[in-house]
Amino acid sequence: MTCGRCGAATAGPTPPVTWTCSVENGHRVYFCDSCARDNLRAIEGRLDSSWW
Ligand SMILES: [Zn+2]
Repeated sequence: MTCGRCGAATAGPTPPVTWTCSVENGHRVYFCDSCARDNLRAIEGRLDSSWW
């Protein structure tokens, strides 16, 4: 798993619960906790409501 913004990597097959999943162009993109905070509005604005 790699953060879609800063490129931070995490071990394991699934991202930590603090990471945020976004869907861009049909692909799941994960953001680490710090990036998620920075981009919360942008992420939510892009997310299809059905994902929440
Ligand atoms: Zn990040």
